[in-house]
Amino acid sequence: MGRNIYVTKSYLPPRGEYDAYLDRIWESRWLTNMGRLHEELRERLKEYLRAESLELFTNGHLALEMALQALELPAGGEIVTTPFSFASTTHAIVRQGFTPVFCDVRPGDGTLDPDLLESLITDRTCAIVPVHVYGNVCDDARISAVAARHGLKLLYDAAHTFGETVDGRSVCTLGDISMLSFHATKVFHTIEGGALVYPGGRYDDILYKLKNFGITGQESVEYVGGNAKMTEFQAAMGLCNLDHTDELTARRGVLDGLYRGLLAGVPGLRLLERDPRVQYNYAYMPVVFDSQADRDGAFALLAERGIHARKYFYPCINAYDCYRGRFDPADTPEAKKLSEQVLTLPLYADLDEETVREICEIIHG
Ligand SMILES: *Cc1c(COP(=O)(O)O)cnc(C)c1O
Repeated sequence: MGRNIYVTKSYLPPRGEYDAYLDRIWESRWLTNMGRLHEELRERLKEYLRAESLELFTNGHLALEMALQALELPAGGEIVTTPFSFASTTHAIVRQGFTPVFCDVRPGDGTLDPDLLESLITDRTCAIVPVHVYGNVCDDARISAVAARHGLKLLYDAAHTFGETVDGRSVCTLGDISMLSFHATKVFHTIEGGALVYPGGRYDDILYKLKNFGITGQESVEYVGGNAKMTEFQAAMGLCNLDHTDELTARRGVLDGLYRGLLAGVPGLRLLERDPRVQYNYAYMPVVFDSQADRDGAFALLAERGIHARKYFYPCINAYDCYRGRFDPADTPEAKKLSEQVLTLPLYADLDEETVREICEIIHG
């Protein structure tokens, strides 16, 4: 058949819309280093996300690393995080010289289990880095209470929550800092890109400098920074895509409803819990099988028909080769089990309903 359906498909705006921004870049000859389009995107995102402060980066991962740097945590401290995420979350912690301590997740929605959090805190703990995995919003009330009680910084990996709200509040405004990813596969993208959101201008100065080598003036360099600046070409893509985000989210919402309707109550399968207080962005369609064998079987059956689901997130981060001998995935049994039984199905705005029905029929078996 030669057909291939992937788990996601990057959105591209109508070509003319991007070209109009390219004309502006050609006129200004300003290609990167916080140009006009960069500033325009920053302002528009602040408004769209109802963020007090927002800094743009060339990708989400470096944004996360620079957030850890901006929080000015004690060198080598312990950071409590989740093993059920994309590699970036833990890698950022380790690359910044901190020690990750893994907290297990709630099987219902895959987010960090607040019941276990406090038992992992030691006198070396300096921060908590939870993940709103698949756009499922963490229990912020309880996590932030623990952070406050122990004087810990709270940095959310909010890579999956673009545009979401909880009880009417923009999800990316939770915690001391939240990181958003604008990678091509995410619901809103700038090809590669990311942002940090935080209250009241608190980290404006340090983040702006960190992403530009720590340079603070023509003759002074104040921080050991890096290069994580968003280019004008990335900002242009973001400005185009932002105009289409609501319409794309609505379309994904329809497909999400169709999937949920067709898969609800199927024996041997469960869907992750939804929180009625959350307005979702329908970024991902994870389903959880009763066993790893069933999950792998469904994955293979779909692949035979050219439908490429993904085992997001498998393996757990604490089972990665690069961390062998340092952590034991058995310490986080729920995360381990979820990673072995979850399958993320294709979901993107122009996926057709026929394909969703076909995928569900294959899964029904
Ligand atoms: C995509 C992603 C990141 C990293 O973002 P990039 O923009 O790709 O660098 C971090 N954490 C999670 C959970 C992600 O899904």
